[in-house]
Amino acid sequence: QLLQHKCLQTTFHDEFSVSKMIGKGSFAKVYLAAKKSSGVQYAIKAFNKEFMLEQFKGKESLENEIRVMRRLNQDNLVHLHEVYETQNSVYFVLDLLQGGELLTRAKTNPFSKEALQKLMYNFIKALIHIHSKKCIHRNLKPENLLLKNKESSTDVVIADFGLATFLNEQILFKRCGTPGFVAPEILIYKEEDPFYDDKCDIFSAGVIFYILLTGRQPFQGQDYKAILRSNKNCEINFNLKEILSSSAKLQDLLRKMLQQNPKDRPSAETCLQHPYFKEIFNMKDLIE
Ligand code: ADP
Ligand code: MG
Repeated sequence: QLLQHKCLQTTFHDEFSVSKMIGKGSFAKVYLAAKKSSGVQYAIKAFNKEFMLEQFKGKESLENEIRVMRRLNQDNLVHLHEVYETQNSVYFVLDLLQGGELLTRAKTNPFSKEALQKLMYNFIKALIHIHSKKCIHRNLKPENLLLKNKESSTDVVIADFGLATFLNEQILFKRCGTPGFVAPEILIYKEEDPFYDDKCDIFSAGVIFYILLTGRQPFQGQDYKAILRSNKNCEINFNLKEILSSSAKLQDLLRKMLQQNPKDRPSAETCLQHPYFKEIFNMKDLIE
């Protein structure tokens, strides 16, 4: 047995009927499956144990993903129901998010001003929960944001806690995340100040905000190295027509979230109190 956690062993295939693959990341494949006893559909995130053991700290990161997910419980975060371990695989039983990846939807159907605002509101609310539990996600990017269902384009859910970790547990200096989306302080190793904290998620949330607003990524380049350099130097073009034609409040929040220095970025809590969220739609609509 690979995992220290309480896992139900080997009974996975007796309990679930797996149909098609619905997603793929760098570590896992995600399948659509139904629980035989109830008929309820789930998304199953399947890890190949042999592959995970070949990865640097693969076992630890799998255990971390479980630990973080078990600590979190909020409407806009994917919920982990159970973990199974069989001879070759580890399976996470997750809520099925029927709406697919956020960006797929955004491409076919650009957001209205109101929809973008509601989506960002829900997204930041989920971040507040993660940070309040002393966790950070560290890998916020478009393919890790999914939509709950096909009807709403604002019910966003954060998935993939594969790089998530706990704050205060160790000094964070590990370089991780995805170039193009990651906070600059993670890419720059500074002897005197090697830390980063929950503000790295605010930066990545700002990158997503930018992409949804403009349809382009802030850090571009001919190749991986060029993207990395632009990300590291935090060179962001704010002079795009989609940005300049937005409200002053939106522009202010976007710029604050994308500040190069993490200390200048607002916390998730402060983001939600920003005047941007006080215009257009009635806040009461969103309070469950
Ligand atoms: P990895 O850790 O390998 O990146 P992810 O957790 O990001 O794996 O899952 C890979 C892909 O599978 C996602 O980008 C998404 O498209 C899809 N996916 C993940 N979780 C769900 C879910 N709960 N419901 C529907 N699709 C999902
Ligand atoms: Mg992923």
